Amino acid sequence: MINEVLEKLLADEAVSAAELKSLLDIVDPIEEKVLFDAAYATKRKFVGNKTFFRGIIECSNICVKDCFYCGIRKSNKNSARFQMDEDEIFREAMWAFDAKYGSIAIQSGERQDAAYIDLIERVLKRIKSATDGKLGVTLSLGEQTKETYQCWRDAGAHRYLLRIETTNPELYRQLHPADHSLEERMQCLTFLKETGYQVGTGVLIGFPNQTTLDLANDLLFLKAIDVDMIGMGPYILHKETPLGQTVAPYDDAKNEEMLHLGLRMIAVARLLLKDVNIAATTALQTLSNTGREQGLLAGANIIMPNVTETKYRPSYQLYENKPAIDENSETSRQSLQQRVESIGEIVGFNEWGDSRHFFNRNLKPAS
Ligand code: SAH
Repeated sequence: MINEVLEKLLADEAVSAAELKSLLDIVDPIEEKVLFDAAYATKRKFVGNKTFFRGIIECSNICVKDCFYCGIRKSNKNSARFQMDEDEIFREAMWAFDAKYGSIAIQSGERQDAAYIDLIERVLKRIKSATDGKLGVTLSLGEQTKETYQCWRDAGAHRYLLRIETTNPELYRQLHPADHSLEERMQCLTFLKETGYQVGTGVLIGFPNQTTLDLANDLLFLKAIDVDMIGMGPYILHKETPLGQTVAPYDDAKNEEMLHLGLRMIAVARLLLKDVNIAATTALQTLSNTGREQGLLAGANIIMPNVTETKYRPSYQLYENKPAIDENSETSRQSLQQRVESIGEIVGFNEWGDSRHFFNRNLKPAS
């Protein structure tokens, strides 16, 4: 079954959710290696051997949402809230630019008020003008109106990440309060596409009640909506959240299981979607020190080193044990570069490393 499904994927034939599930369910390490090698070869063929860095700036943990899994949800009274000002965000962006990262990603909790929309617009314009348009900017600032997306696009951002979290409506309801809507989040992905962004989305992997069939359907959804970028990672608990309180702390065996499910998701996503950008996310690194490199070998091509000022990092805990290592330094930048090079990849310094899929889909005649 596994070889047949791999052959179908490599031949770009249609596959069913059950077929994808069979790959996500692999337990045998030898079969898993076959899967990862096929995904890695597909990556090399469609997007090459360059890994791109996006310096991530976590500019605020203030959030109007109350997602049951997330440590910065508004009801978590133990989270010390912070908001970087324009100068702080700008400074970190310039650090990433000087470090030749090529792109940054600005992420925060969700705020839709005018002051916040203006702050982001101002900082985008300032970054674009100071770098002569050379620093690529991805945003990950949650659900917004189409006008806000347009405003930030006009101010210079050109990629946006908004995870759908899960495409199963029942699971979505279990993860969120009643006023959080899967349909509205989907609508936001449409707005992002209409306003000209390269659009990234993804899901949480391995939370309670989710099955590998759900994950297989999630992957088919990513393909169906023709995404340009994928950011997804294992669910990791945070004790001060409703969901985190229902889950037993992960032991080594559970860490390993979650890491490998995350890696298989990357591999199957690469085999199914081919020319998209896929991030080896920080959650993988939380589960294993080499989680991100393993992600690259399973088909990912993007790493998002944290460039947030160290003093703010303890407050941006979406989940526990988020690696707080100081990546905002020359030494760790070099060590990350060495780690990427040690697996035979090269770092695409000073390049945007845009999604090839974005350009390929825009070349297609309108249907
Ligand atoms: N507020 C923005 C961006 C910040 S949250 C947004 O909603 O898009 C970024 C991502 O962190 C979320 O999409 C979610 O998938 C992930 N996340 C939140 N809590 C997590 C947890 N406990 N474990 C793993 N990932 C988590």
